[in-house]
Amino acid sequence: MITLQGKGVSVGIARGKLVYLDRSGFKVEKKPISNTSGEVQRLHTARKAAADQLDALSVQMEAKLGKEHALLFEVHRMLLEDDDFIDPIIKTIETERVCAEYAIDLASAKLAADFAAMEDEYMSARAADIKDVAKRVIEILSGTQRNIFSGSEPVILASDDFSPSETAQFDRAKVLALVSQAGAANSHTAIFARTMGIPAIIGLGASLSAGLAGKEAALDGESGALNIDPDDKTIAALMEKKNRLQEEGAFLERFRGKETKTQDGRKIKLFANIGSVADIEAVLAGDAEGIGLFRSEFLYLGREDYPDENVQYESYKNVVCKMNGKQVIIRTLDIGADKQADYFKLPHEENPALGMRAIRICLTNKALFKTQLRAIYRASAHGNVAIMFPMIASVFELQQAKAIAAEARSELLAEKIPFNPKTPLGIMVETPASAIISDLLAKEADFFSIGSNDLTQYTLAVDRQNESISEFCDTHHEAILRLIKMTVDNAHKEGIWVGICGMLGADSALTQTFVDMGLDELSVEPSFILKLRSRIAALPHLD
Ligand code: PEP
Ligand code: MG
Repeated sequence: MITLQGKGVSVGIARGKLVYLDRSGFKVEKKPISNTSGEVQRLHTARKAAADQLDALSVQMEAKLGKEHALLFEVHRMLLEDDDFIDPIIKTIETERVCAEYAIDLASAKLAADFAAMEDEYMSARAADIKDVAKRVIEILSGTQRNIFSGSEPVILASDDFSPSETAQFDRAKVLALVSQAGAANSHTAIFARTMGIPAIIGLGASLSAGLAGKEAALDGESGALNIDPDDKTIAALMEKKNRLQEEGAFLERFRGKETKTQDGRKIKLFANIGSVADIEAVLAGDAEGIGLFRSEFLYLGREDYPDENVQYESYKNVVCKMNGKQVIIRTLDIGADKQADYFKLPHEENPALGMRAIRICLTNKALFKTQLRAIYRASAHGNVAIMFPMIASVFELQQAKAIAAEARSELLAEKIPFNPKTPLGIMVETPASAIISDLLAKEADFFSIGSNDLTQYTLAVDRQNESISEFCDTHHEAILRLIKMTVDNAHKEGIWVGICGMLGADSALTQTFVDMGLDELSVEPSFILKLRSRIAALPHLD
């Protein structure tokens, strides 16, 4: 037996024969062309055909996996219409006088590499979507057929990587598991595998080669171990785990569609964190009751210039409409520190986490801030929206932010543009200062959401980006718990609600503590919702 170690991205156990999908034959040729306008026209025709394919796939996927999963194809379609995707391709055709296939390959590889290099895991995972859309248009241009695996008996599928749209189209009955050399945990491939309940391991590297095709394998989609020619002992241990996981999964399903409440009936809002419209599919599949943190900075990252009011409005509106009346808390721009966009031209800083970031940028650049606030307010006309300011440390910052929000409202009113004037304005408590003066801030804010990731970093003076000091990052540190408790008490004294949207909210070892403290909301990764709901349902009488 040999064991290859990768990253488990979809929990589950599988055992079967390995089939390797070899794509090394897919090469794009560089052909010179003389008629550039004709070539641009060819590109547009193929783009239209790709859009039609995606529309058809969207309908198919909605029937197969539900509406939220059809969203991927809408996202791919939006990409086809996105200037950031199309303009560099046209420019390459016109300046290098090359065929459209080659121009797409070149320009999309660059765009995908820009995304892959981003710190934010969600954004870097979007590289796979860019490559997927590019490949679709190239295939249409070159007349090659996309070969979706459809074997006769169930197998473990292996490849260098799987594209999101092919994963969505796999027949669940024929695919026991997916294993790949590359991949990202947040990619749509991983999301689909999780949704379809297909165990998956990514990042197995070059040791996962075509030479393994036909071998027997057994894998654990949680630990990320792929065993080739597994021995009896390994198989027995995996099968035991499989039974246990099945029982747990069936148990969690009982909580779908239910309210989140303790045994004595105390309700807690269980919301989800998202980074973009595409995450809604996971939010709906995870059964979240709302969105507690929409990290709006994704709109600003990976671009050449600021997104204008309309671009932002369309994105927010999209999310708000898809949530269909459930609350969507949009956090205003939190850029700087670990999230950088060149066009902001932020100065080089010795300590970026203590520098020009988040609300500080917005209060310094009022026009930028007001554009975003106007876009969010406009989206508030379409559903249940709240606005949340990040990194507040002082009362004056919140007052200034609210004053700019008031200006945005006055402008919209004067322009007769619809919005909800009662949109709640809350803050993230993610600095020790804001927790300590939460009594004062609670008089000004409509709600609090504790950003435990930054609160931990700033309280313990532990850089959240620095792996080498992770042993000093004690997330259960008494100082953090006391700051949370102080924040909850001060919020309740002023009659406002308080939640946690940092990673600590999903830490089931603290669920009892949080409920005891009186937290009103937890906003977590969508996949944690059912687990937390079952955990909370098991909590005894507390008051
Ligand atoms: C936090 O700091 O806990 C938080 C939720 O914000 P982010 O992780 O985006 O900084
Ligand atoms: Mg934060």
